[in-house]
Amino acid sequence: MREFAFQPTARIDQAVQAHASDAGAAFIAGGTTLIDLVKLDVMRPARLVDVSRLPLDDVERLDDGRLRIGATVTNTDLAHHPLVTEHYPLLSQALLSGASTQLRNMATTAGNVMQRTRCPYFRDVAAACNKRQRGSGCDALHGINRMHAVLGVSEHCIATHPSDMCVAMAALGATLTLEGPNGTREMAFGDFHRLPADRPDLEHELEEGELITHVTLDTPVEGAGSHYLKLRERASYEFALASAGAVVAVKDGTIDEARLALGGVGTKPWRAVEAEKALRDQPAETATFERAAEVAMRGAIPREHNAFKIPLARQAIARALSRAVAASVNR
Ligand SMILES: Cc1cc2nc3c(=O)[nH]c(=O)nc-3n(C[C@H](O)[C@H](O)[C@H](O)COP(=O)(O)OP(=O)(O)OC[C@H]3O[C@@H](n4cnc5c(N)ncnc54)[C@H](O)[C@@H]3O)c2cc1C
Ligand code: SF4
Repeated sequence: MREFAFQPTARIDQAVQAHASDAGAAFIAGGTTLIDLVKLDVMRPARLVDVSRLPLDDVERLDDGRLRIGATVTNTDLAHHPLVTEHYPLLSQALLSGASTQLRNMATTAGNVMQRTRCPYFRDVAAACNKRQRGSGCDALHGINRMHAVLGVSEHCIATHPSDMCVAMAALGATLTLEGPNGTREMAFGDFHRLPADRPDLEHELEEGELITHVTLDTPVEGAGSHYLKLRERASYEFALASAGAVVAVKDGTIDEARLALGGVGTKPWRAVEAEKALRDQPAETATFERAAEVAMRGAIPREHNAFKIPLARQAIARALSRAVAASVNR
């Protein structure tokens, strides 16, 4: 039995201070990732700073048209919020494709951004894992790696980032607001998660004691349609083998603007920037979508059991683009 202190907090400065005063502290929100990992002995916080009751549960439209989401807004509330279903249906679809109703009722926006990989070797303290213990090796490289990543991988880690919500946020464009002992700062969503390289244990750019307070979505792309397509072993309660989030605006049969992000195949929520370039100013037709899918998966590095993800992801991309275009044309 490992003991830990539990500290509820009501104010942001109180939460930051509570974390800063204890090197073994961790924030807890819905607890749907953290409690699992504590039970598995993967995370061993000495103090849990409960942030679930902070006044960060609002979704509001800013004067400049962006949408500001509080860190503790639950995945359920966010998915069904009228401003999200109307202006960011991609985010709603991605959220509702994740986990189960019960989990989404507890899971929060910031907790989802910060969720840890589902790599089984990471979750098994008897296995070698560079992410869990720096320099210990990686049992996934030559183990069962069917669920692992093919983009952004390194010789030290091939774990996927498991979030669906983050794929939608990567495609839509977003900014994180962070509050820490040294004040407030903002960071582009795409800069937040790190590639594993030779330090898979460093997963994000959050500094010690920093709290995510908001995620602010960019203004919606004018006239765009969108689609989130998630391919998985079973229809619900399962992580993606490959997923694609597409936002496409079409004018007179030509693609005016395109955003594309991938899940299930990358070591971080994967924005497919080169594929987006391959889409812009091209005819909105199947051949264009297939070419973009090819570009998106260039440079993929498969292992023994996960090569199937490359053609699977290409199909997910082409189909998500086609459905996003159909949604754009029907607007
Ligand atoms: C069985 C199961 C199936 C799942 N399926 C899916 C799926 O298909 N798709 C998907 O996307 N997700 C899935 N999930 C993951 C789920 O979405 C996450 O567990 C959830 O979003 C985490 O949110 P939370 O509030 O519970 O986080 P917590 O468990 O409370 O915390 C998670 C991490 O975030 C940190 N944290 C929390 N709040 C903050 C903050 N404000 N600032 C800084 N750090 C913070 C914590 O310290 C911790 O490290 C699944 C989970 C389970 C258990
Ligand atoms: S893939 Fe990453 S998370 Fe999985 S065992 Fe290897 S180092 Fe650990």
